[in-house]
Amino acid sequence: MAHLHPRTELSRESIFAQMSRLAAEHGAINLGQGFPSNPPPPFLLEAARRAIGTVDQYTPPIGLPQLREAVAEDLGVSPQEVIITAGGTEALHALAEALYGPGDEVVLLEPYFDVYIPQARMAGAEPVMVPMRLTDRWEVDLSALEQAITPRTKALLLTNPYNPTGSVLSRTEAEQIVALARRHDLWIISDEVYDELYFAEPPISLRELAPERVFTVGSAGKRLEATGWRIGWILTPPGLAPQVAGMRQWSSFCSAAPLQAAVAEALPVARREGFYEALRQGYKARRDLLESGLKSLGLKTFSPAGTYFLTALLPGLEAEALVREAKVAAIPGSAFYIQNPAPKGLFRFAFCKTEAEIEQALERLEGYLKKVHS
Ligand code: GLN
Repeated sequence: MAHLHPRTELSRESIFAQMSRLAAEHGAINLGQGFPSNPPPPFLLEAARRAIGTVDQYTPPIGLPQLREAVAEDLGVSPQEVIITAGGTEALHALAEALYGPGDEVVLLEPYFDVYIPQARMAGAEPVMVPMRLTDRWEVDLSALEQAITPRTKALLLTNPYNPTGSVLSRTEAEQIVALARRHDLWIISDEVYDELYFAEPPISLRELAPERVFTVGSAGKRLEATGWRIGWILTPPGLAPQVAGMRQWSSFCSAAPLQAAVAEALPVARREGFYEALRQGYKARRDLLESGLKSLGLKTFSPAGTYFLTALLPGLEAEALVREAKVAAIPGSAFYIQNPAPKGLFRFAFCKTEAEIEQALERLEGYLKKVHS
């Protein structure tokens, strides 16, 4: 009997899809999967309506020229170094295919964002996980990172701002990571899809420190609150964009043409009209609402400096019970670890939801905690 390849063991449901499914089944408030409750801005939606019926056929695999230009303009790079992808996920996949293969290792941090591991394995490479240090905050353990590097290591894969911890690299940390990559001649894949979501200093783009070895991943879905549109990008070191784009031509060929056109129109509008400042203000208020609410329930929280995720300790609680009984969905910390032990009771809450949803989730948690502790 014919059978599927053993690699389909990677096909299991992701924790994000699972928690969203359970949230729907149990009428829970979904602070699990990170997608915004608010709609995308009208200037983006109007641009898309105009583009459908106008820009409908294939674009070049490297992307619609005007979107490559808009991304380049926004990020201060050459359009020659920009590839448009079907979201950040495809960007990361194309990079895995282009950068490593069987026998290679890629060094990542734990807790990690889920797509990194299956993508490394699909490319045949081995992920090597280095745990972040958790004291009162999340920190990169640079000496552990360096110790994890072997002659097989091809790349470091990092997120900044970091999902799920919400931490943002300091300039010193960023410089040390880049110096380490230089010492060992490694590529850096820097997943910067939350680049506009920060609450203190703007994050450093690692590319600025080492344009010759950093691939940056970006996302219009994250920036413009349209995660289902699947429009993302890669900034490559000079000269490498055609080959990396050539890899993605064998999967999706190109991203949705009218949505590329709409994002090309929207990026300069978002910048000009202060859309990101407003976004940050809104998220900061919701972060504070969630964080002060969790703290007032006596829970330990780790304040995020970026992203729309907040980590907290809920010792003794279990994610499925939380969805079923408290009717609040959050991502269990254990889902972000495969090689090292997760801190006990760690959960990630997404606060890209309405204030009403966050308030209601806090009320439900309060009731549930009273019940389990009585
Ligand atoms: N990036 C989002 C999160 O971390 C969504 C993940 C997903 O469903 N692939 O929750």
